Amino acid sequence: MNPTHLPQGPAVRYEGDVLFVEDVRVADLAREHGTPLFVYSRAAMLAALSAYQRGFAGRKARVFYALKANSSLAILQLFARAGCGFDIVSGGELERVLAAGAQPADIIFSGVGKTRHEMRRALELGIHCFNVESEPELEVLNAVATGLGVRAPVSLRVNPDVNPLTHPYISTGLKGSKFGIAHKDALRAYRQAAALPGLRVVGIDCHIGSQITNVTPYLDAMDRMLDLVTAIEAAGIPIAHIDFGGGLGIVYNDEQPPAADALWQRLLAKLDARGFGDRQLLVEPGRSLVGNAGICVTEVLYLKPGEQKNFCIIDAAMNDLPRPAMYEAFHQIVPVQRRAGAAMVCDVVGPVCESGDWIGRDRALSAQAGDLLAVLSAGAYCMSMASNYNSRGRAAEVLVDGSQVHVIRERESIEDQLRNETLLP
Ligand SMILES: *Cc1c(COP(=O)(O)O)cnc(C)c1O
Repeated sequence: MNPTHLPQGPAVRYEGDVLFVEDVRVADLAREHGTPLFVYSRAAMLAALSAYQRGFAGRKARVFYALKANSSLAILQLFARAGCGFDIVSGGELERVLAAGAQPADIIFSGVGKTRHEMRRALELGIHCFNVESEPELEVLNAVATGLGVRAPVSLRVNPDVNPLTHPYISTGLKGSKFGIAHKDALRAYRQAAALPGLRVVGIDCHIGSQITNVTPYLDAMDRMLDLVTAIEAAGIPIAHIDFGGGLGIVYNDEQPPAADALWQRLLAKLDARGFGDRQLLVEPGRSLVGNAGICVTEVLYLKPGEQKNFCIIDAAMNDLPRPAMYEAFHQIVPVQRRAGAAMVCDVVGPVCESGDWIGRDRALSAQAGDLLAVLSAGAYCMSMASNYNSRGRAAEVLVDGSQVHVIRERESIEDQLRNETLLP
């Protein structure tokens, strides 16, 4: 691996041997705010969004950011101000986007297990659409909406049964997935939805998986979806919008995902060719808007040479960066200050008491205790998945804008962690 090749777009670069995020030295951020520390580039997030907006220029299309990728309030605020809607998957995410300044009409609600309580709150607020994932959910949503005297706008999440060619834990569009309504059952479910008085059919959606680096699964899914739209409309049920979900991959190592505008050039050509070019389009990207815009800065605590393996023990762990433990995912790990000297091949691991607590395996690093490292491509599915395992406080987060630094989340204190607990009498 060429250590000067950083997969971060505008987010991260070396000047000489010194790592920067935009115009700020990463080492200065670590000194001021401590480690582990998430650092995000505002410009990189907006550049990622622009690629979608460019791809959709002149079309009736809208980006709904899937905030489970990174739901920190300031990041939601940034995307709300840039014109995004939001794709939520829980009542907690609903309250979060409202707190960040989003309007209910800019929210779509996905997820297989919405509770009545969550449905009621979203209906009272008047969200844009519910992405419904099963026939029983249609019945419950109908009952809740009828009870409130409203009609719930619904889109059915259809499972197009295409293989996204990604990790099994982040494949969602295959038969056997808990997500979506099977392609063969979709027409029946649409007939059911159209007949229920508390529902109003507005669209169709799919989301086939995540970290997709290949255009073909998207093209296949689109064909399968358009076949269904044709059949559903032939049954007299108009489909106002088509939502193609999220899933576009980013660069962690040597992946070569299409840019969002290049992907959509291909997809729009297919839509046009099949006569659906003027349809209202929605997309729900998460990872591709934030993943490459963030890093996690960490300090080397100990080097621990061993007979079979060398270990580099850092102060970030699986509770901060869960992706390697959860999906055996790869993140590049680079020095904040490049130094000369022999590299040692080591596993980069955290302090958590689990063998699964590794961040990188067999990495060549010339680091010493006290050095700072940056774990790259850490903007998505890191902080939003962070936990307090081992009673570790969650990291702080800063957003860099040129030479300006905004603290967007304080480091979690032990008081924060103990707040909701009580001792026995
Ligand atoms: C997770 C998710 C997304 C976003 O996926 P990315 O791979 O992060 O783009 C979009 N839609 C739904 C329904 C999701 O569950």
